[in-house]
Amino acid sequence: MLPEQFLAPYAAHSEGGAGRLYPETAHASRSQFQRDRDRIIHSSAFRRLEYKTQVFLNHEGDLFRTRLTHSLEVAQIGRSLARNLRLNEDLVEAISLAHDLGHTPFGHVGQDVLNECMKDYGGFEHNLQSLRVVDELEEHYGAYNGLNLMFETREGILKHCSLNNAKLLGPVAQRFIDRTQPSLEAQLTNLADEIAYNSHDIDDGLRSGLITIEQLEQVEFFARLWRDVQQAFPGLSGRRAIYETLRRLITALADDLIATSSARIAEADPQHIDDVRAAPPLIRFSDEMRKDATELKRFLYANLYRHYKVGRMRVKASRIVRELFEAFMAEPALLPPDYQDKSGDVNKVARKIADYIAGMTDRYAIREHRRLFSLDEL
Ligand code: MG
Repeated sequence: MLPEQFLAPYAAHSEGGAGRLYPETAHASRSQFQRDRDRIIHSSAFRRLEYKTQVFLNHEGDLFRTRLTHSLEVAQIGRSLARNLRLNEDLVEAISLAHDLGHTPFGHVGQDVLNECMKDYGGFEHNLQSLRVVDELEEHYGAYNGLNLMFETREGILKHCSLNNAKLLGPVAQRFIDRTQPSLEAQLTNLADEIAYNSHDIDDGLRSGLITIEQLEQVEFFARLWRDVQQAFPGLSGRRAIYETLRRLITALADDLIATSSARIAEADPQHIDDVRAAPPLIRFSDEMRKDATELKRFLYANLYRHYKVGRMRVKASRIVRELFEAFMAEPALLPPDYQDKSGDVNKVARKIADYIAGMTDRYAIREHRRLFSLDEL
């Protein structure tokens, strides 16, 4: 078993926390968080990530990131950061691999539309849905619904939460009411997520031709790294120049995060995870790096996520999600039996429909829409 005594005293440890909802005896050869990671990898929601949109629709090209490869990149970056800070790598890996399990098909537009459709029935939020997947929706065990994960894994998955929802969720969401922090592992995974998507969205954006190097050179942070590459390899162009720049980008963000967070941890001097929870966020970028990263994010937002071609996809995707939801609400008998709610409670009916739609991959949603609305397809 991984010897946790090498972790920092303020890291999350297998023992001493709130543990699992349904107590289980310790495993001989795996730590509690290794078990969580393994349960997540074996879940069906995890396999669906392969066919869910990150930015580009799943079928637009085989080389673009999907939710699955995105989650793997987050885990990889997160693990290196965690090792440097003597945090629990297994917990970081578990949170990373689970953080997008609740995402709808078609990326953020799917979640926005489903949230609108659900506005009279409690709303829809993908962080909350990720938690719902691991707490309730996975059907793997005889004794309980869900994966019965550790408290720290669940709190890490619940990245955001409204005050209203927090009141309904109990201990896992208490920090949103108390305004305290989650484990350093959870804080770190959030930022590993940001490092991963900033870098891979540039890569995918360039590959798709929706953004160009010339545009990116207007972003000071990118321009600096691009110049470094040109100095190291005069005349280098194409894929190699892009990769050389992006690996420098990831390194710059990661090194800054490690240095800044180490200093903040040393200053706060937490002796236990409880001290971490009471302290301000300790895992952070420096102010200068935060500025650079924000500029990059703004660029991606304006030029990639708001590109007219991405916009066309967004309109189509929102129509699919909305029409599926409306058709099932009007005629719940069209749902597969597992998703039919017989209680007569409209909120429960709507929630089951949201679960069904959120669980769809891009191509399944497209196919299901065709099955319901196309007269050519029966
Ligand atoms: Mg993510």
